[in-house]
Amino acid sequence: MKIFKLKEDLSNHLNILRSQNSSIGFVPTMGALHDGHLSLIKASNQQCDKTVCSIFVNPTQFNNTADLEKYPRTIEHDIVILENSGCDILFIPEVDEIYPNNEQPVHYELGFLETILEGEFRPGHFQGVCRVVDILLNIINPSFLFLGQKDYQQCMVLKKMITLRNHHTSIVTIPTMREADGLAMSSRNMRLNTDQRIKASKIYVALQKMNQSGSLPLLIAKKQALTLLSDAGFLVDYLEVANANTLEILTEWEKTPMVILVAAYLGDIRLIDNLILPGI
Ligand code: AMP
Repeated sequence: MKIFKLKEDLSNHLNILRSQNSSIGFVPTMGALHDGHLSLIKASNQQCDKTVCSIFVNPTQFNNTADLEKYPRTIEHDIVILENSGCDILFIPEVDEIYPNNEQPVHYELGFLETILEGEFRPGHFQGVCRVVDILLNIINPSFLFLGQKDYQQCMVLKKMITLRNHHTSIVTIPTMREADGLAMSSRNMRLNTDQRIKASKIYVALQKMNQSGSLPLLIAKKQALTLLSDAGFLVDYLEVANANTLEILTEWEKTPMVILVAAYLGDIRLIDNLILPGI
């Protein structure tokens, strides 16, 4: 695996690969890699000739300084597991390399998508996500961008950014990898203590419970799931059912595909998850 720290070196190398007709798949991450990340690398390896993974803890997408400081960083371990995953290229830039001084941020017109759920509870978060991915796509120019369904709203936001900025890349969305008890794999899980780790699986239990409550009015099903989460010690930011295509928040079950989305704190650790419900 080749490792690059400078964007110019990386893009020169990728230009050579492209001139040899290699297709490039790109997996952006913030590191502290787990099997969820590796499922994206694996999908890229299968679909593309060369896979580029980036590890960059992007400061502009954190709306909470303490969260940024506490974000797990395990770069040496990450390099070892990437070597074993068949990843071809790793990009690990410093902050200055991505955000040179005096660079004016672009404003992305995300509209409704930025006003709900993660957008509502993490102001500015999606602007930061779009900014970093826009910059990375300009450097890497991949044919395919591999994203996890775990960050459902982020996938929709990045799809919009790609259209707004005219990037020639297609998004491939990969299903959420879970631990044996259903907890969605996440770098932040490393910060859970033993007691929190046991309770954390209740987030998936709540999603499943809602999924099985189709015979109850949606608002009652939601209330039951919220009670389950608060009894387990969660402080819930949101638990909503939305139209899976538009993210319009629903108050009644629909026949169209729906998605249940949740964000909740255990202590100071914020977990998110979602479950897609097929249309009837
Ligand atoms: P992150 O490092 O958390 O920014 O995530 C990098 C990419 O991995 C994003 O596209 C995430 O949606 C994806 N991802 C994170 N957790 C999982 C998971 N449990 N299963 C599949 N993909 C994931």
